[in-house]
Amino acid sequence: MLHIMSQETGTSGAAEAGLFADDYLEEPYWWSAAPLPSVSENMEPALLDGRADVVVVGSGITGLVAALHLAREGCDVAVLDAQRIGEGAARRNAGFVGRTLKRSVEWLTAKSGRDHAVRVYRELDAALRGVQAFVDRERIECHYQTCGRFIAANSNAHFRALVTELEQTRQAVGFDYSVVEKHEVRSEIASDGYHGGAVIPDLGSIHPGLYHAGLVRKALEAGVRLYPLTNVVGVDHDARGKTVRTSRGGIAARHVIIATNGYTSRDLKWLARRVIPFRGFLIATELLPPETIDRVIPHRRTYLDTKMNIDFLRPAPDSSRLLFGGMTGTASPTATPLAGALRDRLVRILPDLKGVRLSRAWTGHCAGTFDFMPHIGTKDGVHFALGYNFAGIPLGTHFGEKLAARILERGDPSSVFDVEKFPTAPFYGGSPWFVPLAMRYFDWHDDRIAKG
Ligand SMILES: Cc1cc2nc3c(=O)[nH]c(=O)nc-3n(C[C@H](O)[C@H](O)[C@H](O)COP(=O)(O)OP(=O)(O)OC[C@H]3O[C@@H](n4cnc5c(N)ncnc54)[C@H](O)[C@@H]3O)c2cc1C
Repeated sequence: MLHIMSQETGTSGAAEAGLFADDYLEEPYWWSAAPLPSVSENMEPALLDGRADVVVVGSGITGLVAALHLAREGCDVAVLDAQRIGEGAARRNAGFVGRTLKRSVEWLTAKSGRDHAVRVYRELDAALRGVQAFVDRERIECHYQTCGRFIAANSNAHFRALVTELEQTRQAVGFDYSVVEKHEVRSEIASDGYHGGAVIPDLGSIHPGLYHAGLVRKALEAGVRLYPLTNVVGVDHDARGKTVRTSRGGIAARHVIIATNGYTSRDLKWLARRVIPFRGFLIATELLPPETIDRVIPHRRTYLDTKMNIDFLRPAPDSSRLLFGGMTGTASPTATPLAGALRDRLVRILPDLKGVRLSRAWTGHCAGTFDFMPHIGTKDGVHFALGYNFAGIPLGTHFGEKLAARILERGDPSSVFDVEKFPTAPFYGGSPWFVPLAMRYFDWHDDRIAKG
């Protein structure tokens, strides 16, 4: 039964009665089905001071996909992570699988020409198809579904801009979509706040915890060595090769990959100056009657809106709950203080959920970049891929394969995202003090477009 609160919901905070279900935890929902591997379980306990053909820094999607491909080709691979294996964004994200990019075909065409724009979107599409094919081929049970995505327009002007952008993209690269007029919105979502929208039918969703757990299993089977709680503080180069310096000693390697995305530590100075970490926040509702979910999102797709700073919603793939995210970039190190405000936003969108309680709230680091583009490349002989701007499931999988192809000198290592220019900003050293301000600017920008 949906718990109904007896009082009007105001701007609720964490202390509000009726906000948290009895099973509330500040922990990613995904960790229930896919708990983080304990430090001792199948992990290399020994201190380092050894060597490997390839050292991978970061045990998320990118790092493990690269490690898996390399190990299967006979490389001795060590994956090092400052936290527990998978404790970064890989098991914290929302599980939307799409062709997400903040830059439109039109914007890219104006900047670098139509050919470049088409190549960018074709590679995003290849990454989407790639993750589907990879999950299938590897038989990773992670609830991959081609559920389609509904994008809800926050104003008439947003609706017009959305349809224009989708049509331009269709003409350039052929991606299908269908328009949902304002009077049809309720066929997609039980909300009166939107001014129309569009469905992109071929986008998907995944259980990110089970996806990452599958990657860990496959990597271990292929012989990859995993070193949790091993913070990398630098990479030295000399005539004999590279030495990765860590909190647990050094490890020599012929090749090094950095796959640290939103968790890139300041020790990795060149990359830390180019990546902008910001926090994403998610809540999971208590168990809901399945009929409630069918009523509020009858097609059980993924949902987001047209704002720069999006609200996003999806059903859990393995239980009768809704997962909702927003307030990205808020400067709170934990999610519980924002749980009330997130629940209020959810209820504003879906009034049928009034009084719903929460079972989980959590946060994780995403990675932005100054040019809003993901990057893959090589700097001083060290390979890297990061800056996914909310698209790390397909791009992490795709770039993981590309990084392996670079080292193996086999397959296709090329990428339209491998560009010489990876911008930073004067005085930026990796401390993103400006993110909350940028988010306020995006809110202002969205309002301005809304006023048309
Ligand atoms: C709340 C949230 C929602 C998101 N939703 C989506 C979504 O719906 N769809 C989507 O595609 N993407 C989404 N993302 C983004 C996606 O999760 C990431 O882009 C993705 O996990 C790719 O990052 P990764 O796997 O390369 O790195 P991560 O999984 O972030 O792992 C990086 C690892 O590097 C380690 N590390 C960092 N520095 C060091 C060091 N010096 N030494 C050793 N280890 C180090 C960290 O401990 C961490 O474990 C979301 C992210 C967040 C936070």
